Amino acid sequence: MVAKFDLTDDSVVVIIGTGAGGGVLANELAQKGVKVVALEAGGRYLPEDYINDEWESFSQLAWLDARTTSGSWRVAKDFGGLPAWIVKAVGGTTTHWAGASLRFQDHEWKALTTYGAVEGASLLDWPIDAAEMAPWYEKAEDKLGVTRTGNRPGLPGNNNYKVFEKGALALGYKEVSTGRMAIESSNENSSRIACQQTGFCFQGCKWGAKWSAAYTDIPEGEATGNLEVRERSHVAKILHNDEGKVTGVEYFDAEGNLQFQAARIVCLAGNTFESPRLLLNSASSMFPNGLANSSDQVGRNYMRHTTGSVYGIFDKPVKMWRGTTMAGIVQDEARHDPSRGFVGGYELETLALGLPFMAAFLNPGAWGRGFTTALDHYENMAGMWIVGEDMPQSTNRVTLSDATDQYGLKVANVHFDDHPNDVAMRNHAYKQGMAIYDAVGATRSFPTPPYPSTHNLGTNRMSERPEDGVCNKWGQTHDIANLFISDGSQFTTGAAENPTLTIVALAIRQADHIAREMAAGTI
Ligand SMILES: Cc1cc2nc3c(=O)[nH]c(=O)nc-3n(C[C@H](O)[C@H](O)[C@H](O)COP(=O)(O)OP(=O)(O)OC[C@H]3O[C@@H](n4cnc5c(N)ncnc54)[C@H](O)[C@@H]3O)c2cc1C
Ligand code: SF4
Repeated sequence: MVAKFDLTDDSVVVIIGTGAGGGVLANELAQKGVKVVALEAGGRYLPEDYINDEWESFSQLAWLDARTTSGSWRVAKDFGGLPAWIVKAVGGTTTHWAGASLRFQDHEWKALTTYGAVEGASLLDWPIDAAEMAPWYEKAEDKLGVTRTGNRPGLPGNNNYKVFEKGALALGYKEVSTGRMAIESSNENSSRIACQQTGFCFQGCKWGAKWSAAYTDIPEGEATGNLEVRERSHVAKILHNDEGKVTGVEYFDAEGNLQFQAARIVCLAGNTFESPRLLLNSASSMFPNGLANSSDQVGRNYMRHTTGSVYGIFDKPVKMWRGTTMAGIVQDEARHDPSRGFVGGYELETLALGLPFMAAFLNPGAWGRGFTTALDHYENMAGMWIVGEDMPQSTNRVTLSDATDQYGLKVANVHFDDHPNDVAMRNHAYKQGMAIYDAVGATRSFPTPPYPSTHNLGTNRMSERPEDGVCNKWGQTHDIANLFISDGSQFTTGAAENPTLTIVALAIRQADHIAREMAAGTI
């Protein structure tokens, strides 16, 4: 039975956003008997609603409310109003995600200690480490059904993978596989069916073979009778009392009416742009710089991973769009090896865009023969994506723009400049990516610039000392004991791995902590 809580019920935990962080936290708390109201700005879409067409699906699911950009990154020039590809729907960006699910390497929890101070970067060690996270990763892998973990077999490789694998092995790479994916590889021992290799992972999996909070954690949480999800409910402000404790949130409901929901605890999981925006928009006379911002760290240290893509054209068809979008990885370059001219490392992962996206993202603004002949050879193309650790910089930040949204609220401005380490890493990855395709006879191989950011991290970072960040090792804000950060914005550094498995592991761990502290009466 789906729960229904009163607006004045101040015993509930309010979670803002229902994506990888918020959706998992909501279910985990509900399973432990904690009463939860989850407020989600977007609507509810299930596998039968997903659309196997790139742009239509994007219009259905993506966050299209206003945002602005600044800085020298290419995304600001190519996609000024769209700095990121983020979803506005129940389940958040786990509807669009591809499912690549990797643990951090041990040293990546301690980037400052491992890499040393890097000029211009605001590197910091996480206040947690690999040993502490290991059991939570295991729980996250079981929840997501990650291939090549537990007893789960790997996925079969599609044509895009076969080309990629052959080239990588020819270059001498050893850590080459179809990766660890939150996609079912068999029909045994799972409530989800095995992948049908239809190739629309980015559009929401119509088979439900890929894990998404939308059709796993959310309904499981609702089934406990402890979770109420209010969709099309956009939180405008977090309120607090004279003691500086948060008391609840104001939100615009599906009819556009302003409501107040009381809360014992508020957990912020709106993704890396909306979470700091909400803290800044919640400024008051007691907290004039925004909530949880005595350190002036809210919004700073925005990270997006060093990305870019490489495509190869062959003389025979590859049909890269068939099969899973991202089940293919080379991990040899993920190590920290400064002899390459940069700190940290990167992963190379197979990627296939449908023709409509390819035309938009191949080289935005380009025209002429080079561009059109590449598209003419779409059928013969193979593709890969770079995911590398980018440097946190305090000047890469989310601030409030002068522009306002449909509710009259100031929108997020996203400022980003590449760090020289990011540029050196990207150029190295482009070279290696092209070498992979050249090694198996590509007639042409070429890099393409980064798309709007899909991995958005770091604007409310975890820190040991309150002056270095926004929240502690539990995601609890340093300034306000009953206000938590529960999404990717709590990342201290980004590591080379796709972030969602870590967001989920942190959410499971945070639920355990919150339930324990609530029972003890400390929050
Ligand atoms: C195309 C694509 C492919 C990806 N592939 C991978 C992959 O293979 N592996 C991987 O690890 N990651 C991948 N990602 C990234 C991954 O989806 C995100 O890292 C992850 O979902 C972030 O989780 P989150 O909880 O921080 O935010 P989200 O999942 O984005 O959830 C935030 C939610 O908060 C809601 N919200 C925001 N503001 C408010 C408000 N004011 N009031 C109420 N609700 C609000 C939003 O509507 C949204 O539903 C991919 C992303 C994209 C777009
Ligand atoms: S390829 Fe597999 S995971 Fe991707 S959309 Fe199709 S069935 Fe789902």
